[in-house]
Amino acid sequence: MRGKYILLAALLMLALPGTLSCQAPTSSPEKSIVVTYSILGSIVRDLVGVKATVTVSMPNGLDPHEWQPSAKDIETINKAGLVIENGLGLEGGMEKTLEAAKRNGVKFFTASDYITIRHVGTGEGIPSGDPDQAIGAPDPHIWLDPITMKSVVSALVPALMKDLNLDVAAQARDLENRLDSLNTEVANIVAQIPQENRKLVTGHESMGYFAQRYDFKLVGVIIPSLSSQAGVSAADLAALKKAIQDNQVKAIFTELGTSPAVAKTIGDETGVKVVELQAAYLPPDGSYFTFMRNLATVITNALK
Ligand SMILES: [Zn+2]
Repeated sequence: MRGKYILLAALLMLALPGTLSCQAPTSSPEKSIVVTYSILGSIVRDLVGVKATVTVSMPNGLDPHEWQPSAKDIETINKAGLVIENGLGLEGGMEKTLEAAKRNGVKFFTASDYITIRHVGTGEGIPSGDPDQAIGAPDPHIWLDPITMKSVVSALVPALMKDLNLDVAAQARDLENRLDSLNTEVANIVAQIPQENRKLVTGHESMGYFAQRYDFKLVGVIIPSLSSQAGVSAADLAALKKAIQDNQVKAIFTELGTSPAVAKTIGDETGVKVVELQAAYLPPDGSYFTFMRNLATVITNALK
């Protein structure tokens, strides 16, 4: 009996960040913001506070590349005062809905329009995969660098004023300072990893912005794609195993959408430990800051 209550409490905690977003019925309809995924939603919620209703479309913990909206989600998007999306193809399963809403005249803010976009570089471990997602493709995983998210916050200030008549200038200054501090904090955490161990093998090509900011080398990926939907070939796996051994990689990281069986096989055959990385969803407290600290700590503990 007691076990059931503990399980229920755990489920409620998991549901909390998404549940909170549905409340605040006192806001006027024109101050309603829809954000496509939870991590960007957390930043927006920190920025606007109680000045607007923030609803996140994708349930926290589901793969953003794959999720598809229901009829009710589509209705919420079309009624929004402003929709905030990531862009660069992250919202693969939502794209038709978002395009239709734009045609219907819904106002949009695309976060990746306001950042320095990272492109996949040569030797970053996409041996095959879709031609349009290989070397040179724009990387949609922008939230993995706090300084990139700071650019998004700065760009949101005039957009929120123009589209929703919402003044968040003071909150933005505070949030920008906190993101600077978070960057310093993450840099200090990963500083415990010797330079020769700063090598990442992940479930898919997701950690580029983090690697660029904190000086890691991207050695390889289990799924050879920017999306988590592509298949894995025997040749890809052989190339990855060789890269792990050649680079003396200390650990491989699985993510949402990574096959546990494939990861275990690679781990067993290379003698490298397999570590789960929460790179695309929020922790129970719903905070981007906790998310980034946890991410840096998991990586550091696995590689130091
Ligand atoms: Zn991804």
